Amino acid sequence: MPSRSMEELASLCKRRGFIFQSNDIYGGIKGLYDYGPMGVELKNNLKMAWWKSMIYERDDIEGIDSNILTGPDVLKYSGHVDTFTDPLVDCRSCKSRWKSDQLENKSCPNCKSKDLTEERPFNLMFKTPIGPVDDGSSYAYLRPETAQQIFTNFKNVLDSTNRTIPFGVAQIGKAFRNEITPRNFIFRVREFEQMELEFFVKPGSDEKWHKYWINERYNWWVNQGINKKNIHLHSVKKDELSHYSKSTVDILYDFPHGKEELEGIANRSDFDLGSHTKNQKDFNISTKVMENQKSTTKLGVQELESKSWFIPFVIEPSAGLDRGVLAVLNDAYKEEKIDNNNSRIVLALKPHLSPIKAAVIPLKRNNDQLVERAKSIKKILQQIGVGRIILENTGNIGKNYRRHDEIGTPLCITVDFETLESNSVTIRDRDSMQQKRLSTEELKEYFKNYFD
Ligand code: ATP
Repeated sequence: MPSRSMEELASLCKRRGFIFQSNDIYGGIKGLYDYGPMGVELKNNLKMAWWKSMIYERDDIEGIDSNILTGPDVLKYSGHVDTFTDPLVDCRSCKSRWKSDQLENKSCPNCKSKDLTEERPFNLMFKTPIGPVDDGSSYAYLRPETAQQIFTNFKNVLDSTNRTIPFGVAQIGKAFRNEITPRNFIFRVREFEQMELEFFVKPGSDEKWHKYWINERYNWWVNQGINKKNIHLHSVKKDELSHYSKSTVDILYDFPHGKEELEGIANRSDFDLGSHTKNQKDFNISTKVMENQKSTTKLGVQELESKSWFIPFVIEPSAGLDRGVLAVLNDAYKEEKIDNNNSRIVLALKPHLSPIKAAVIPLKRNNDQLVERAKSIKKILQQIGVGRIILENTGNIGKNYRRHDEIGTPLCITVDFETLESNSVTIRDRDSMQQKRLSTEELKEYFKNYFD
């Protein structure tokens, strides 16, 4: 069973060092969260799983890491300056502000008043001056999506790697949106990370590739431990599509607060490269693009046989990393009865996502011989290179098991007095709670195979 409520999950996250309210000691800022010692490991592991599946395990995708600060031209020609807005409504009674689709029966969700302003567009981008003079003449935006710098670097990547269509460019990084009402823990925040792929294809093959990526991305989430019954594919209605999209399928997840978007997979057509390219008139662009006389670079490619030029279509799987962390945590969360008197909370995370891969626990605290042996076992496991291993020198085995169940550590290894005599340890499995004794040689093999 996933967690029963967002509060239950948020409480575990705080107690065990996954996620904290940002600026907490000064009262916190809405829509901003910090990742703690366990959270950063989980988040990095999820990122790495994505990067591996996109870059290392394929032969048709390159990675980049571009700037967060983005010049106004990029976001003007992408359409964001004009259209990246949410409909904002003010309540004249209690002065609260709402996105109009959050209103219930056209009344204020806070005070129920119907005395509301007309809705008006509110741009979600954060703007900041560049340089020492803040006179409005030189500014940038904090990017609202990582995608745009992939488009502006399209030619750089193409030329420096000798790629041909179809191929993709992937990026993981921060994005910022000044959400009107951030809510639901890390689900809707103002600073978050995205894992985005822009996959460039020949016009005409876009629908085939769109289907392909929907399938790939669905399976990837299942491989991260998400139960199939908790994720759903949803075709976005034509009148709800973003300004760039020919069609979009969202992957929805049953979050504790409801079924909502985890990832969007959009067919962005030739809108983006078409809007950013030089010499737009030279191309047969299929969509209504932003008229552009400023770009210095042609973003088309040449057909090998006919030698004619075309603007590639783009298929974009865009996943939210923070929403991914939330989904993975929620799906892994279990409260189990151990016996008539005891229960436990366990995070049944897939081992590759667990923040700590193993805890090595000397049976007695501060016993030099046991601690030294535990350190050397930790070192052996560390060298296998699967992630973080920790030594727990607190002496309370039961408490350690409980803590490691709650943070999802798959293996706990106890070093006891028999270890000193026979060079063997007990290893406890998080999910079955079964323990068995292994020699340190066997432990090494077991450990390697476990994370293979
Ligand atoms: P929503 O409709 O929920 O606001 P969106 O359709 O605007 O999302 P996209 O622009 O498609 O989102 O962004 C791609 C992904 O980035 C989303 O699927 C989501 O996982 C993530 N994302 C977008 N906005 C936020 C946010 N405010 N907080 C956390 N993640 C976000």
